[in-house]
Amino acid sequence: IRNLVLLLGDQLTRGISALQGFDPERDRILMAELAEETSYVPHHVQKIVLVLSAMRHFAEELRNEGLPLDYVALEDDGNSGSFTGELARAVKRLDPERIIVTEPGEWRLREVMEGWTERFARPVEIRPDTRFFASRERFASWAKGRRSFRMEHFYREMRRETGILMEGETPSGGRWNFDAENRKALPKGERVPRRHRVEPDAVTRAVIDMVRRRFPDNFGDLDGFGWAVTRKDALDALDRFVAELLPRFGDYQDAMKRGAPFLFHAVLSPYLNIGLLTAGEVCTAAETAWRDGRAPLNAVEGFVRQILGWREYVRGVYWLRMPDYPESNVLGADRPLPDFYWTGETDMACMAEAVAATRRHAYAHHIQRLMVTGNFALLAGIRPAEVEAWYLVVYADAFEWVELPNVHGMALFADGGLLASKPYAASGAYIDRMSDYCAGCAYDPRAKTGAKACPFNVLYWRFLSVNRDRLAGNPRMAMPYRTLDAMEAGQRAEVLRAAEAWLEKLDAAGSTYAAPRQ
Ligand code: FAD
Ligand code: SF4
Repeated sequence: IRNLVLLLGDQLTRGISALQGFDPERDRILMAELAEETSYVPHHVQKIVLVLSAMRHFAEELRNEGLPLDYVALEDDGNSGSFTGELARAVKRLDPERIIVTEPGEWRLREVMEGWTERFARPVEIRPDTRFFASRERFASWAKGRRSFRMEHFYREMRRETGILMEGETPSGGRWNFDAENRKALPKGERVPRRHRVEPDAVTRAVIDMVRRRFPDNFGDLDGFGWAVTRKDALDALDRFVAELLPRFGDYQDAMKRGAPFLFHAVLSPYLNIGLLTAGEVCTAAETAWRDGRAPLNAVEGFVRQILGWREYVRGVYWLRMPDYPESNVLGADRPLPDFYWTGETDMACMAEAVAATRRHAYAHHIQRLMVTGNFALLAGIRPAEVEAWYLVVYADAFEWVELPNVHGMALFADGGLLASKPYAASGAYIDRMSDYCAGCAYDPRAKTGAKACPFNVLYWRFLSVNRDRLAGNPRMAMPYRTLDAMEAGQRAEVLRAAEAWLEKLDAAGSTYAAPRQ
């Protein structure tokens, strides 16, 4: 054969660059379910089912189109378990003139691919992943010469370049940013629509059975599995989001509510990340809703910013800074990850809620990830590598290129402010304002001292205090430091003592689950 085209599990897009110029008469596709991929971290069981079932459905669609395809299932005899091993078998079988692949989303795989030309003694073409708005080179040219990066600057360039939400040179509505309108708490009684579930078909049910059998100890529940595993169902999820949820997405983007893990969020990230949807079509759908008067601009701009802005930006930072990016730990965080990140057994209601939703759905929305589980890890000084390993395991949308910068840079500030302009540190008052969690908690979000003092409060003031040298010069931190300094000395000492006592208790409880990044 002429070309052997390798498709990875997160490249389930008909228009993927590796398939450009594909000739069914002369070329062949290879897809493989690999132990190396299903086990490099002990993924949430729903994530394994999602990826494997989506791969099987995508392979079927390509075959129905008449494209010749070799598919190696996880339990097939002879499955070597690795990309290099499966390519070696296919090269022996098919003797292709050339191997074609789209660049992977992870550094570790890119490294492996670099060795293939030599290993297989034939050309290996690694094509750029054109599903992103900005190529790696485009991001690098934007970043060149900048001492620090700001998402907002990059995002505006992307708006200008793509014309999304632009009227000529002017941003739609005359402003780039509607964030100030997007921070409302959910009013009591506001109806939250039920989340649409896709009932698993026979293919998905077979994968569920296999995953139950092969990964019995992995984190997560499978009973409620309701992810789309086909492009058709993912498009349906997009349509439903735009029609039913997008109009209120902006207003309640930062809100949190007990028993309502999805609120008005899109819950589309896994589909975007494995290729069932493209970033371009999702942004267009949102923009069209605004132009047709079906959604307000604050919602649509807020949504587009997440994809055209943040998603592209974190990918750019990842490729620019790997492989050294995860090495930094500028705040010297050195505590093991507490067991309650896995068990949810804690008397902090907000943490228990976030972990329970994560276990049940392989999902938590952005503010839970950033301001609850991320904020706690930041304030308590949990080792970045262990926090990153947790996030990579527990979410259906977790792929290293997007997970690592979000955790290392945004949530933990471990890169010293390369990615985010200030640490997203907050006390219990923030969580109380944005959620209804505190009403059912053993702690009091208003208490800074005493047995009922919210741990986020005491840890917040301690965080500011112990990191003063590094953070006090940051203009965006001036206000919190003024508040800390205005605190009466006796009270400040008591708060800091309470924080140390809390951390001692945490340390004494130990950590049994720590799963370091591979
Ligand atoms: P919505 O809130 O509806 O947003 C719409 C889309 O915007 C998302 O589908 C997503 O594609 C994109 N988006 C939003 N915020 C970000 C962001 N900060 N970075 C990249 N894309 C973004 N996202 C992942 O896809 N995979 C991860 O592993 C991941 N880990 C995260 C870890 C932490 C600590 C934090 C703070 C955020 C992380 N995010 C990650 C970003 C974000 O939380 C999720 O993309 C979002 O919660 C997915 O749910 P949604 O589709 O309902 O998003
Ligand atoms: Fe979380 Fe503190 Fe509120 Fe309890 S009181 S839910 S620990 S923020």
